[in-house]
Amino acid sequence: MPHVKKQMISFFLTTKCNLNCIYCYNKEERKKIREKTLPLEIAKAGIDYFFENNCSRHIRFYGPGEPTQEFGLMKEITSYAKSVDSHVTVEIQTNGVFSKNVREWMLRNANIIWMSFDGPPDIQNFNRPIGGEHPSAPIIEDNVKWLLKSKGNQNLMVGARVTMTDKNISRQREMVDYFNSLGIKHIWTNPLFPSVGKIPVCNDLEKLNRYSFDMDSYLDYYIDAYYYAREKNIFYGSFLTCNFDGEANVHCRSCTPVPHLTPDGYVSACDMVVLGENAYHMDCFIYGKWNQDSKKFDFNTEKIEALRQRTSDNLSHCKNCPAKLHCGGYCLGEVVNETGNLGGQKPIVCKAIRRLIEEIGIADKPYEYLHP
Ligand code: SF4
Ligand code: SF4
Repeated sequence: MPHVKKQMISFFLTTKCNLNCIYCYNKEERKKIREKTLPLEIAKAGIDYFFENNCSRHIRFYGPGEPTQEFGLMKEITSYAKSVDSHVTVEIQTNGVFSKNVREWMLRNANIIWMSFDGPPDIQNFNRPIGGEHPSAPIIEDNVKWLLKSKGNQNLMVGARVTMTDKNISRQREMVDYFNSLGIKHIWTNPLFPSVGKIPVCNDLEKLNRYSFDMDSYLDYYIDAYYYAREKNIFYGSFLTCNFDGEANVHCRSCTPVPHLTPDGYVSACDMVVLGENAYHMDCFIYGKWNQDSKKFDFNTEKIEALRQRTSDNLSHCKNCPAKLHCGGYCLGEVVNETGNLGGQKPIVCKAIRRLIEEIGIADKPYEYLHP
């Protein structure tokens, strides 16, 4: 099922965070702003709007900070959504550093929990420190093990969403074993991409020079670990293969678009655009805004149409690509961030996707849990 089929409303709950990840994709953005949290009134109106306009009943909590830092709000939004429709399913993307109180609620209320988790403790603690000398690995390990041990027959999946950096590229087999030892059977890996700033990365020499990711090496180890995981009945995906289990001419839900409500009252189409007020070169993703007077969302139809037009049929570089049906033009968030252009391309990624199509081929059945 291609990634675009993952229709849902996302709540970018708060800018508050309890970790200090070294690569945080929006840390520059977050440092400069006053802490902001999504108002409950907007979240409720978002649920009403989404349920009226989409048959999906899937809701999701996500950044820009750590959603469990606004636990009370997360509970209220979930309970409102479930009061509107009892078929609601709940997904949470979390850094895994939360209290017993939070995990007990998650056990009863969540269906999909993606832990942002970078592998064995030395990597996790290096990439994702709590701050000071405090490591995050023991807490996330304990929460994962507790949730998996306690879930019984409940419809709950706890998986790992791994950011790949130079630190863990060559340790992918080991990662499969490590996650397996904690009980995790679903893993998505994402190559590190440059953070979002005020200008496209192509015009930011300093950022370009700082960025390093060895795609060839990632693929070598990924392919090896993919087959290794498969033997153990573990799903080991790559963001580059997120459309390999179906056919689509768009990359993801951004081209639908579906709402991602930002803490400052905007409607974003993409996980990479978490605040609407000053979105700079990423403004093409901010397609709506909460209107405090009418108590409704105002939508920008031109922006919506531009996102919908971003299909692999309309991208000149995709037209004759052998991966066209299983890529959809790749992640527009990354492309716009790096090229400043909704019709841009990441040639290194294109080469990588084509290699993956050749070497592991398309999936023989739909993914059980789509990429977050
Ligand atoms: S980050 Fe990429 S895949 Fe995710 S919502 Fe944005 S465009 Fe889609
Ligand atoms: S691999 Fe590149 S050229 Fe091919 S469909 Fe994807 S974005 Fe387009």
